[in-house]
Amino acid sequence: MDNQEPRAPVYLREAQIWQRVSEMAATISRDFAGTTPHFVAVLNGAFVFMADLVRRVELPLTLDFMAVSSYQGTESSGEVELIKDLSHPIGGRDVIIVEDIVDTGITLEYLLDYLQARKPATLRVAALLSKPSRRQRNVPIDYLGFEIANAYVYGYGLDCDQLDRNLPYITSLPE
Ligand code: 5GP
Repeated sequence: MDNQEPRAPVYLREAQIWQRVSEMAATISRDFAGTTPHFVAVLNGAFVFMADLVRRVELPLTLDFMAVSSYQGTESSGEVELIKDLSHPIGGRDVIIVEDIVDTGITLEYLLDYLQARKPATLRVAALLSKPSRRQRNVPIDYLGFEIANAYVYGYGLDCDQLDRNLPYITSLPE
C-alpha cells in the first residue's frame, strides 16, 4: 500500500489514477482518430494530469497552458481571474480543456466561454475529478476520471495551501 491517511474520505492510489488516466487517453485517442487535437491545461492543478494524459494519447497533438485563479487557500472565492492567457491560437482546432477538478463549475464555465469565443472547431473537457454535490453551474464534462465526495482533496498536482502537489496519490483532509 502507498503511504496513506486511512480516515481520509477520499483516497485514490497511484495505480488507480494511472489506470483511469490510461482509459481516458484511450477513449480520447479513439474519439479524435485522424485529427491533431490541441490540449489546453489549466495551471497549476492540472499539470501532473496533463503530463500523464498526453503521454498516453496515441495521436499527433499540440498543447498549451492557461492559468486562472478561483481559490484562495482552501476556500472558493467564486470569482475567476485570468492569470496566463493562451500562447497559441485555437481557431479551427479540436480543443480539449484539461482540468484537475470541477467543483462549483464556475471556473470551467468561464473557460468554456473564454475558449468558445476564440472559435475552435470543437471544444471538449477532460477533468480528472468532479464533486457533483458542489455544483453551481451546469457544465459538460466529456471525459471524467473520478466522481468524488465533497471533500478538499490534494496530491497529484492539486495543492493543500500550495503544498503536496508532488504526492503521487490523491487524498483529502480528514473530516
Ligand atoms: P470551481 O470553479 O469548479 O469551484 O473550482 C475549480 C478549481 O478550484 C479547480 O481547478 C481547483 O484549482 C480548485 N479546487 C476545487 N476543489 C478543490 C479541491 O478539493 N482541492 C484543491 N486542491 N483544489 C480545488
